[in-house]
Amino acid sequence: MTDGPKYGFDTLQIHAGARPDPATGARQTPIYQTTAYVFRDAEHAAALFNLQEVGYIYSRLTNPTVAVLQERIATLEGGVGGVCCSSGHAAQIMALYPLMAPGLNVVVSTRLYGGTVTQFSHTIKRFGWSATFVDFDDLDAVKAAIDENTRAIFCESIANPGGYITDLDAIAEIADAAEIPLIVDNTTATPYLCRPIEHGATLVVHSTTKYLTGNGTVTGGCVVDSGKFDWSANDKFPSLSAPEPAYHGMKFHETFGPLAFTFHGIAIGLRDLGMTMNPQAAHYTLMGTETLSLRMDRHVENAVKIAKWLEADDRVDYVTYAGLESSPYYDRVAKICPRGAGGLFTFAVKGGYDACVKLVNALEIFSHVANLGDSRSLIIHSASTTHRQLTAEQQRAAGAAPEVVRLSIGTEDVTDLIADLDQALAKATS
Ligand SMILES: *Cc1c(COP(=O)(O)O)cnc(C)c1O
Repeated sequence: MTDGPKYGFDTLQIHAGARPDPATGARQTPIYQTTAYVFRDAEHAAALFNLQEVGYIYSRLTNPTVAVLQERIATLEGGVGGVCCSSGHAAQIMALYPLMAPGLNVVVSTRLYGGTVTQFSHTIKRFGWSATFVDFDDLDAVKAAIDENTRAIFCESIANPGGYITDLDAIAEIADAAEIPLIVDNTTATPYLCRPIEHGATLVVHSTTKYLTGNGTVTGGCVVDSGKFDWSANDKFPSLSAPEPAYHGMKFHETFGPLAFTFHGIAIGLRDLGMTMNPQAAHYTLMGTETLSLRMDRHVENAVKIAKWLEADDRVDYVTYAGLESSPYYDRVAKICPRGAGGLFTFAVKGGYDACVKLVNALEIFSHVANLGDSRSLIIHSASTTHRQLTAEQQRAAGAAPEVVRLSIGTEDVTDLIADLDQALAKATS
Protein backbone atom coordinates (compact mmCIF):
# COMPACT_ATOMS: atom_id res chain seq x y z
CA MET A 1 0.00 0.00 0.00
CA THR A 2 1.15 3.47 -0.61
CA ASP A 3 -1.22 6.36 -0.31
CA GLY A 4 -4.76 7.39 -1.04
CA PRO A 5 -7.30 9.45 0.81
CA LYS A 6 -8.99 6.34 2.17
CA TYR A 7 -6.32 6.01 4.84
CA GLY A 8 -5.97 8.30 7.83
CA PHE A 9 -2.83 10.20 8.84
CA ASP A 10 -1.83 7.72 11.56
CA THR A 11 -1.90 4.88 9.01
CA LEU A 12 -0.11 6.80 6.29
CA GLN A 13 2.71 7.98 8.58
CA ILE A 14 3.64 4.29 9.04
CA HIS A 15 2.82 2.82 5.63
CA ALA A 16 2.99 5.47 2.88
CA GLY A 17 5.73 4.77 0.37
CA ALA A 18 6.73 1.46 1.96
CA ARG A 19 6.05 -2.15 1.02
CA PRO A 20 7.76 -5.41 1.94
CA ASP A 21 11.17 -5.58 0.28
CA PRO A 22 10.67 -7.37 -3.06
CA ALA A 23 13.96 -9.27 -2.76
CA THR A 24 13.74 -10.54 0.82
CA GLY A 25 10.26 -9.80 2.14
CA ALA A 26 11.79 -7.63 4.87
CA ARG A 27 8.86 -5.84 6.48
CA GLN A 28 10.81 -2.78 7.59
CA THR A 29 12.33 -0.64 4.82
CA PRO A 30 15.93 -1.80 4.33
CA ILE A 31 18.78 0.68 4.36
CA TYR A 32 20.02 0.36 0.78
CA GLN A 33 23.62 1.18 1.55
CA THR A 34 24.80 1.29 -2.03
CA THR A 35 26.23 3.93 -4.30
CA ALA A 36 25.33 2.39 -7.67
CA TYR A 37 22.84 -0.02 -9.24
CA VAL A 38 23.54 -2.64 -11.90
CA PHE A 39 21.91 -1.94 -15.27
CA ARG A 40 20.06 -4.87 -16.85
CA ASP A 41 21.82 -4.16 -20.13
CA ALA A 42 23.14 -1.26 -22.22
CA GLU A 43 19.63 -0.35 -23.50
CA HIS A 44 18.29 -0.18 -19.92
CA ALA A 45 21.17 2.10 -18.97
CA ALA A 46 20.52 4.39 -21.93
CA ALA A 47 16.79 4.61 -21.15
CA LEU A 48 17.54 5.55 -17.54
CA PHE A 49 20.01 8.24 -18.56
CA ASN A 50 17.50 9.65 -21.06
CA LEU A 51 14.80 9.79 -18.33
CA GLN A 52 12.69 7.51 -20.55
CA GLU A 53 12.50 4.94 -17.79
CA VAL A 54 12.37 5.55 -14.04
CA GLY A 55 14.90 3.58 -12.05
CA TYR A 56 18.09 3.68 -10.06
CA ILE A 57 21.42 4.83 -11.47
CA TYR A 58 23.53 6.32 -8.71
CA SER A 59 22.70 7.35 -5.15
CA ARG A 60 23.47 11.04 -5.69
CA LEU A 61 20.18 11.05 -7.62
CA THR A 62 18.05 8.26 -6.22
CA ASN A 63 18.18 5.58 -3.55
CA PRO A 64 15.37 3.15 -2.60
CA THR A 65 15.44 4.01 1.13
CA VAL A 66 15.37 7.73 0.39
CA ALA A 67 12.60 7.12 -2.18
CA VAL A 68 10.33 5.63 0.50
CA LEU A 69 10.82 8.70 2.67
CA GLN A 70 10.16 11.01 -0.30
CA GLU A 71 6.89 9.29 -1.04
CA ARG A 72 5.92 9.22 2.63
CA ILE A 73 6.45 12.93 3.21
CA ALA A 74 4.78 13.84 -0.09
CA THR A 75 1.76 11.71 0.87
CA LEU A 76 1.49 13.21 4.37
CA GLU A 77 1.63 16.70 2.82
CA GLY A 78 -0.92 15.85 0.13
CA GLY A 79 1.60 16.53 -2.66
CA VAL A 80 2.36 14.59 -5.84
CA GLY A 81 6.08 14.11 -5.29
CA GLY A 82 8.96 14.89 -2.99
CA VAL A 83 12.72 15.22 -3.22
CA CYS A 84 14.79 14.65 -0.11
CA CYS A 85 18.11 16.36 0.37
CA SER A 86 20.88 16.77 2.89
CA SER A 87 19.37 19.46 5.15
CA GLY A 88 16.53 21.92 5.47
CA HIS A 89 18.73 24.66 4.07
CA ALA A 90 19.55 22.46 1.08
CA ALA A 91 15.79 21.99 0.56
CA GLN A 92 15.32 25.76 0.39
CA ILE A 93 17.98 26.11 -2.31
CA MET A 94 16.57 23.06 -4.12
CA ALA A 95 13.09 24.63 -4.08
CA LEU A 96 14.29 27.97 -5.42
CA TYR A 97 16.85 26.70 -7.91
CA PRO A 98 14.48 25.78 -10.78
CA LEU A 99 12.63 29.08 -10.38
CA MET A 100 15.44 31.57 -10.09
CA ALA A 101 18.19 33.05 -12.24
CA PRO A 102 20.53 36.04 -11.85
CA GLY A 103 18.52 39.23 -11.43
CA LEU A 104 15.41 37.49 -10.12
CA ASN A 105 13.97 37.80 -6.63
CA VAL A 106 11.82 36.04 -4.04
CA VAL A 107 9.46 37.87 -1.67
CA VAL A 108 9.92 36.47 1.85
CA SER A 109 8.45 36.91 5.30
CA THR A 110 10.49 38.74 7.94
CA ARG A 111 9.46 36.01 10.39
CA LEU A 112 11.79 33.15 9.50
CA TYR A 113 14.30 30.78 11.07
CA GLY A 114 17.50 32.77 11.70
CA GLY A 115 19.60 30.66 9.35
CA THR A 116 17.07 31.23 6.59
CA VAL A 117 17.26 34.98 7.06
CA THR A 118 21.03 34.73 6.66
CA GLN A 119 20.76 32.41 3.63
CA PHE A 120 18.30 34.78 1.95
CA SER A 121 19.91 38.09 2.87
CA HIS A 122 23.53 37.14 2.09
CA THR A 123 24.29 33.79 0.51
CA ILE A 124 21.78 33.71 -2.34
CA LYS A 125 23.15 37.04 -3.58
CA ARG A 126 26.20 35.14 -4.81
CA PHE A 127 23.89 33.36 -7.26
CA GLY A 128 22.62 36.76 -8.38
CA TRP A 129 19.28 36.13 -6.64
CA SER A 130 17.79 38.44 -4.05
CA ALA A 131 15.12 38.34 -1.35
CA THR A 132 12.74 41.13 -0.43
CA PHE A 133 11.74 40.89 3.26
CA VAL A 134 8.19 41.94 4.10
CA ASP A 135 5.85 41.82 7.10
CA PHE A 136 3.40 39.14 5.94
CA ASP A 137 0.61 40.59 8.08
CA ASP A 138 0.71 43.62 5.78
CA LEU A 139 -0.89 42.10 2.68
CA ASP A 140 -0.61 45.34 0.71
CA ALA A 141 3.12 45.39 1.39
CA VAL A 142 3.42 41.80 0.17
CA LYS A 143 1.61 42.72 -3.06
CA ALA A 144 3.71 45.85 -3.47
CA ALA A 145 6.95 43.90 -3.05
CA ILE A 146 6.18 41.68 -6.06
CA ASP A 147 7.63 42.93 -9.33
CA GLU A 148 8.20 41.46 -12.81
CA ASN A 149 11.36 39.74 -11.54
CA THR A 150 9.70 37.98 -8.61
CA ARG A 151 9.57 34.20 -9.04
CA ALA A 152 8.26 32.99 -5.66
CA ILE A 153 6.85 33.92 -2.28
CA PHE A 154 8.37 32.19 0.76
CA CYS A 155 7.16 31.91 4.35
CA GLU A 156 6.89 29.53 7.29
CA SER A 157 3.52 28.12 8.38
CA ILE A 158 4.22 28.41 12.10
CA ALA A 159 7.18 30.75 12.16
CA ASN A 160 10.19 29.86 14.18
CA PRO A 161 10.59 31.20 16.84
CA GLY A 162 8.09 33.96 17.61
CA GLY A 163 4.73 32.18 17.93
CA TYR A 164 3.62 33.59 14.60
CA ILE A 165 1.19 31.85 12.27
CA THR A 166 1.05 32.94 8.64
CA ASP A 167 -2.35 33.47 7.06
CA LEU A 168 -1.45 31.05 4.27
CA ASP A 169 -4.75 31.41 2.41
CA ALA A 170 -4.32 35.18 2.12
CA ILE A 171 -0.71 34.85 0.94
CA ALA A 172 -1.63 32.09 -1.54
CA GLU A 173 -4.26 34.36 -3.06
CA ILE A 174 -1.58 37.02 -3.66
CA ALA A 175 0.75 34.41 -5.19
CA ASP A 176 -2.03 33.16 -7.48
CA ALA A 177 -2.85 36.67 -8.67
CA ALA A 178 0.84 37.25 -9.47
CA GLU A 179 1.13 33.80 -11.15
CA ILE A 180 4.05 32.79 -8.96
CA PRO A 181 4.43 29.80 -6.63
CA LEU A 182 4.05 30.02 -2.86
CA ILE A 183 6.73 28.06 -1.00
CA VAL A 184 5.93 27.22 2.63
CA ASP A 185 8.49 25.97 5.13
CA ASN A 186 6.36 23.58 7.21
CA THR A 187 9.17 22.38 9.50
CA THR A 188 7.81 23.57 12.81
CA ALA A 189 4.18 22.60 12.14
CA THR A 190 4.74 19.27 10.33
CA PRO A 191 1.99 17.94 8.06
CA TYR A 192 0.19 16.64 11.15
CA LEU A 193 -0.56 20.13 12.42
CA CYS A 194 -0.68 22.03 9.11
CA ARG A 195 -1.10 21.03 5.47
CA PRO A 196 0.01 24.09 3.50
CA ILE A 197 -1.08 22.66 0.12
CA GLU A 198 -4.69 22.71 1.36
CA HIS A 199 -4.19 26.44 1.96
CA GLY A 200 -2.85 27.10 -1.54
CA ALA A 201 0.89 26.43 -1.24
CA THR A 202 2.63 25.26 -4.42
CA LEU A 203 5.71 23.81 -2.74
CA VAL A 204 6.36 22.73 0.84
CA VAL A 205 9.89 22.55 2.24
CA HIS A 206 11.03 20.76 5.38
CA SER A 207 13.98 20.48 7.62
CA THR A 208 13.44 16.78 8.38
CA THR A 209 16.14 17.30 11.02
CA LYS A 210 13.42 18.49 13.37
CA TYR A 211 10.03 16.92 14.21
CA LEU A 212 9.87 14.50 11.28
CA THR A 213 12.93 12.66 12.61
CA GLY A 214 12.02 13.73 16.10
CA ASN A 215 14.98 12.76 18.20
CA GLY A 216 17.89 14.92 17.13
CA THR A 217 19.84 12.27 15.23
CA VAL A 218 20.25 13.31 11.58
CA THR A 219 19.99 16.37 9.35
CA GLY A 220 17.85 16.26 6.25
CA GLY A 221 15.43 18.19 4.11
CA CYS A 222 12.61 17.64 1.68
CA VAL A 223 10.82 19.59 -1.06
CA VAL A 224 7.24 18.52 -1.76
CA ASP A 225 5.38 19.66 -4.86
CA SER A 226 1.61 20.06 -4.91
CA GLY A 227 1.68 19.35 -8.66
CA LYS A 228 -0.83 22.16 -9.12
CA PHE A 229 1.24 24.97 -10.61
CA ASP A 230 1.14 25.63 -14.34
CA TRP A 231 4.84 26.16 -15.12
CA SER A 232 4.04 26.72 -18.80
CA ALA A 233 1.38 29.44 -18.39
CA ASN A 234 4.00 32.03 -19.34
CA ASP A 235 7.75 32.19 -19.94
CA LYS A 236 8.67 32.92 -16.31
CA PHE A 237 9.91 29.39 -15.52
CA PRO A 238 12.07 28.25 -18.46
CA SER A 239 13.87 25.56 -16.39
CA LEU A 240 10.55 23.71 -16.27
CA SER A 241 8.83 24.84 -19.46
CA ALA A 242 11.60 25.38 -22.04
CA PRO A 243 13.81 22.74 -23.75
CA GLU A 244 16.52 21.40 -21.42
CA PRO A 245 19.86 21.17 -23.25
CA ALA A 246 21.26 18.59 -20.82
CA TYR A 247 18.46 16.18 -21.80
CA HIS A 248 18.38 16.63 -25.61
CA GLY A 249 15.90 19.51 -25.52
CA MET A 250 13.28 17.68 -23.42
CA LYS A 251 10.78 19.98 -21.65
CA PHE A 252 10.18 18.92 -18.04
CA HIS A 253 6.65 20.25 -17.72
CA GLU A 254 5.50 18.91 -21.07
CA THR A 255 7.06 15.50 -20.41
CA PHE A 256 6.32 14.94 -16.72
CA GLY A 257 3.19 17.06 -16.19
CA PRO A 258 2.44 17.49 -12.47
CA LEU A 259 5.68 15.66 -11.60
CA ALA A 260 7.83 18.17 -13.52
CA PHE A 261 9.19 19.91 -10.44
CA THR A 262 9.99 16.60 -8.71
CA PHE A 263 11.77 15.14 -11.74
CA HIS A 264 13.68 18.37 -12.24
CA GLY A 265 14.72 18.26 -8.59
CA ILE A 266 16.25 14.83 -9.07
CA ALA A 267 17.49 14.98 -12.66
CA ILE A 268 19.00 18.48 -12.44
CA GLY A 269 18.94 19.55 -8.78
CA LEU A 270 20.44 16.51 -7.09
CA ARG A 271 22.47 15.54 -10.14
CA ASP A 272 24.26 18.89 -10.34
CA LEU A 273 23.99 20.47 -6.90
CA GLY A 274 24.62 17.17 -5.14
CA MET A 275 22.78 18.00 -1.90
CA THR A 276 21.82 14.36 -1.47
CA MET A 277 20.26 12.70 1.57
CA ASN A 278 22.08 9.51 2.53
CA PRO A 279 20.11 6.28 3.13
CA GLN A 280 21.08 6.11 6.83
CA ALA A 281 19.54 9.53 7.39
CA ALA A 282 16.43 8.48 5.47
CA HIS A 283 16.15 5.41 7.73
CA TYR A 284 16.22 7.47 10.94
CA THR A 285 13.67 9.88 9.54
CA LEU A 286 11.41 7.04 8.39
CA MET A 287 11.52 5.72 11.99
CA GLY A 288 10.57 9.18 13.19
CA THR A 289 7.62 9.64 10.86
CA GLU A 290 6.01 6.44 12.22
CA THR A 291 5.25 8.19 15.53
CA LEU A 292 4.83 11.75 14.24
CA SER A 293 1.19 12.30 15.23
CA LEU A 294 1.66 10.71 18.66
CA ARG A 295 4.62 12.94 19.41
CA MET A 296 3.06 16.11 18.01
CA ASP A 297 -0.03 15.66 20.16
CA ARG A 298 2.18 15.42 23.25
CA HIS A 299 4.42 18.33 22.15
CA VAL A 300 1.31 20.49 21.79
CA GLU A 301 -0.28 19.33 25.06
CA ASN A 302 2.92 20.03 27.02
CA ALA A 303 3.51 23.35 25.24
CA VAL A 304 0.02 24.63 26.09
CA LYS A 305 0.42 23.71 29.78
CA ILE A 306 3.87 25.25 30.07
CA ALA A 307 2.97 28.41 28.14
CA LYS A 308 -0.03 28.96 30.43
CA TRP A 309 2.08 28.37 33.53
CA LEU A 310 4.76 30.81 32.35
CA GLU A 311 2.20 33.44 31.38
CA ALA A 312 0.83 33.42 34.93
CA ASP A 313 4.30 33.73 36.49
CA ASP A 314 5.52 37.10 37.85
CA ARG A 315 9.10 36.50 36.73
CA VAL A 316 7.99 36.35 33.09
CA ASP A 317 7.20 39.45 31.03
CA TYR A 318 5.32 37.84 28.16
CA VAL A 319 4.90 34.54 26.31
CA THR A 320 4.51 34.38 22.53
CA TYR A 321 2.66 31.15 21.84
CA ALA A 322 -0.14 31.17 19.30
CA GLY A 323 -1.91 28.53 21.40
CA LEU A 324 -2.57 31.12 24.13
CA GLU A 325 -5.72 33.22 23.96
CA SER A 326 -3.55 36.29 24.58
CA SER A 327 -1.75 35.71 21.26
CA PRO A 328 -2.73 37.95 18.34
CA TYR A 329 -2.47 34.80 16.22
CA TYR A 330 -4.75 32.64 18.37
CA ASP A 331 -7.59 32.94 15.84
CA ARG A 332 -5.38 31.60 13.06
CA VAL A 333 -4.77 28.32 14.91
CA ALA A 334 -8.27 27.02 14.18
CA LYS A 335 -7.89 27.88 10.51
CA ILE A 336 -4.25 27.04 9.71
CA CYS A 337 -3.21 24.40 12.28
CA PRO A 338 -6.36 23.12 13.96
CA ARG A 339 -4.58 20.36 15.90
CA GLY A 340 -2.47 22.91 17.76
CA ALA A 341 0.09 25.65 17.45
CA GLY A 342 3.14 23.39 17.77
CA GLY A 343 5.71 22.87 20.47
CA LEU A 344 7.82 25.97 20.06
CA PHE A 345 7.50 29.37 21.63
CA THR A 346 9.44 32.16 23.19
CA PHE A 347 9.09 33.99 26.46
CA ALA A 348 10.65 37.14 27.86
CA VAL A 349 12.38 36.89 31.22
CA LYS A 350 12.23 39.90 33.53
CA GLY A 351 15.86 40.98 33.84
CA GLY A 352 16.59 40.89 30.10
CA TYR A 353 19.67 39.46 28.40
CA ASP A 354 21.57 38.65 31.63
CA ALA A 355 18.61 36.85 33.22
CA CYS A 356 18.19 34.80 30.01
CA VAL A 357 21.80 33.69 30.15
CA LYS A 358 21.43 32.69 33.84
CA LEU A 359 18.21 30.81 33.11
CA VAL A 360 19.79 28.82 30.32
CA ASN A 361 22.69 27.88 32.59
CA ALA A 362 20.46 26.85 35.51
CA LEU A 363 18.12 24.45 33.69
CA GLU A 364 18.65 20.73 34.28
CA ILE A 365 16.25 18.86 31.98
CA PHE A 366 16.16 21.44 29.17
CA SER A 367 19.30 21.26 27.04
CA HIS A 368 20.91 24.40 25.69
CA VAL A 369 21.22 23.54 22.01
CA ALA A 370 20.70 25.05 18.56
CA ASN A 371 18.02 22.59 17.54
CA LEU A 372 14.29 22.12 17.84
CA GLY A 373 11.72 19.38 17.39
CA ASP A 374 13.52 16.84 19.58
CA SER A 375 11.70 14.53 22.01
CA ARG A 376 13.96 16.21 24.60
CA SER A 377 13.04 19.70 25.77
CA LEU A 378 15.43 22.30 24.47
CA ILE A 379 16.13 25.94 25.13
CA ILE A 380 18.10 28.56 23.31
CA HIS A 381 18.80 32.21 23.76
CA SER A 382 18.34 33.12 20.11
CA ALA A 383 19.84 36.62 20.29
CA SER A 384 23.22 35.27 21.37
CA THR A 385 23.16 32.19 19.12
CA THR A 386 20.92 31.34 16.12
CA HIS A 387 19.95 34.96 15.46
CA ARG A 388 23.34 36.43 16.37
CA GLN A 389 24.19 37.29 12.72
CA LEU A 390 21.10 39.47 12.46
CA THR A 391 20.84 43.15 13.24
CA ALA A 392 18.88 44.09 16.40
CA GLU A 393 16.04 45.20 14.15
CA GLN A 394 16.01 41.87 12.28
CA GLN A 395 16.15 40.03 15.64
CA ARG A 396 13.04 41.82 16.88
CA ALA A 397 11.25 41.33 13.56
CA ALA A 398 12.04 37.59 13.77
CA GLY A 399 10.76 37.39 17.37
CA ALA A 400 14.23 36.87 18.82
CA ALA A 401 14.71 40.00 20.95
CA PRO A 402 17.59 39.98 23.52
CA GLU A 403 15.25 39.43 26.53
CA VAL A 404 13.64 36.40 24.93
CA VAL A 405 14.46 32.68 25.13
CA ARG A 406 13.02 30.02 22.84
CA LEU A 407 11.71 26.73 24.15
CA SER A 408 11.23 23.58 22.11
CA ILE A 409 8.96 21.60 24.38
CA GLY A 410 9.68 17.88 24.45
CA THR A 411 7.53 14.90 25.29
CA GLU A 412 8.73 14.40 28.89
CA ASP A 413 6.47 14.61 31.97
CA VAL A 414 5.12 18.11 31.96
CA THR A 415 5.32 18.40 35.77
CA ASP A 416 9.07 17.75 35.59
CA LEU A 417 9.50 20.41 32.89
CA ILE A 418 7.56 22.98 34.89
CA ALA A 419 9.56 22.20 38.05
CA ASP A 420 12.80 22.65 36.08
CA LEU A 421 11.69 26.02 34.68
CA ASP A 422 10.55 27.06 38.17
CA GLN A 423 13.91 26.40 39.84
CA ALA A 424 15.86 28.00 36.96
CA LEU A 425 13.67 31.12 36.91
CA ALA A 426 14.29 31.48 40.67
CA LYS A 427 18.05 31.48 40.05
CA ALA A 428 17.81 33.75 37.00
CA THR A 429 15.75 36.45 38.64
CA SER A 430 17.01 36.42 42.25
C1 LIG B 1 16.19 24.06 11.19
C2 LIG B 1 15.34 24.80 10.27
C3 LIG B 1 15.76 25.03 8.95
C4 LIG B 1 17.10 24.57 8.45
O1 LIG B 1 17.16 23.20 8.47
P1 LIG B 1 18.54 22.38 8.58
O2 LIG B 1 18.10 20.96 8.50
O3 LIG B 1 19.15 22.74 9.89
O4 LIG B 1 19.38 22.82 7.43
C5 LIG B 1 14.91 25.72 8.12
N1 LIG B 1 13.71 26.16 8.53
C6 LIG B 1 13.27 25.95 9.79
C7 LIG B 1 11.95 26.46 10.19
C8 LIG B 1 14.07 25.26 10.70
O5 LIG B 1 13.64 25.06 11.94
